[in-house]
Amino acid sequence: MSAIYNFCAGPAMLPAAVMKKAQQELLDWNGLGVSVMEVSHRGKEFIALTKQAEADLRELMHIPQNYHVLFMHGGGRGQFSAVVNNFLGNQGRALYLVSGQWSSAALAEAQKLVGDAQIDSLNIVEKHNGLNAVVLPELHKIDADYRYVHYCPNETVDGIEIFDELDSPWPIVADLSSTIMSREIDVSCYGLIYAGAQKNIGPSGLSIVIVRDDMLKLPSLPQSSIMDYRLAVEHDSMFNTPPTFAWYLAAEVFAWLKSIGGVASIAKINQQKAQMLYACIDANPFYKNGVVAANRSQMNVTFQLADESLDGAFLKEAEAAGLVALKGHRIVGGMRASLYNAMPLEGVAALVTFMNEFAAKHY
Ligand code: PMP
Repeated sequence: MSAIYNFCAGPAMLPAAVMKKAQQELLDWNGLGVSVMEVSHRGKEFIALTKQAEADLRELMHIPQNYHVLFMHGGGRGQFSAVVNNFLGNQGRALYLVSGQWSSAALAEAQKLVGDAQIDSLNIVEKHNGLNAVVLPELHKIDADYRYVHYCPNETVDGIEIFDELDSPWPIVADLSSTIMSREIDVSCYGLIYAGAQKNIGPSGLSIVIVRDDMLKLPSLPQSSIMDYRLAVEHDSMFNTPPTFAWYLAAEVFAWLKSIGGVASIAKINQQKAQMLYACIDANPFYKNGVVAANRSQMNVTFQLADESLDGAFLKEAEAAGLVALKGHRIVGGMRASLYNAMPLEGVAALVTFMNEFAAKHY
């Protein structure tokens, strides 16, 4: 079978080397004669796996010692409510910055749980010459006492990424679901980072939470025990049975990323991949992208065909060429190529070749 390049936004492709290793180990993990799915999460082999996974993630992201690393249930959206329930007890207030679909969804969840009276929001996307541009607000000028400010540095649906660190007088809570470990960030700037796993980490359902120690002193609302950060810390993310296979695969992805030079090294490749694809879009009037250069997502490249009636043909011919899952999110339409860590440079080169040929044929 010739190569298939999977541009799905999530669940996304995982590194081929990791998938092969998982396949080899599926029926006999660690010489135990059974799968990792079939052993106790409290056994010494699985505990060793969790320790290694945490150590590797700490090394990859340079996570300071005053941060806890949690492996939790519920994907990205699970954290939308967990953040509110863990930090907004006793009438706490929070600010939500809105830059696209996912930050809007996080805001809606927060409003549902504690009501508009406790949640403020600011739209941070403006149109500059018809293109979406993020304008970061001057948070220091806002006279309010927020427990945290929430934002989404990479909007998976809209293809908008915020590369500048937010300057905030309040702890920053960031949804890094679709950008975690794609480039280096300074973890010490954040009160809490969360990410659904199904892009740069592993299978869906799992979420990673990186939380600064002092955040856990904020008053919480009554909530489900399995989403309680304090309980998760106390029980090493094992208050109940964790998603063990997802945790195992995440551990393998961390080991793989370390083996190829870590985040700094993958960041260079990610930059190259995105540049190649945006250069193709910009060079060709047949394609367009609606985001200013400074906020174009490196992970999720959205683009439209100048003639929408060719969308179907584009997707069909791309699939025939082994380039799958390029359809844009149903809310925004058009196309989207997700270029997460596991996508090799060759996949993007194949896409660019296809796009140039398709445009030449139809333009
Ligand atoms: N936040 C972002 C930025 C996402 O991209 C997604 C999923 N695509 C989510 C949250 C929601 O994740 P989940 O489906 O795991 O709840």
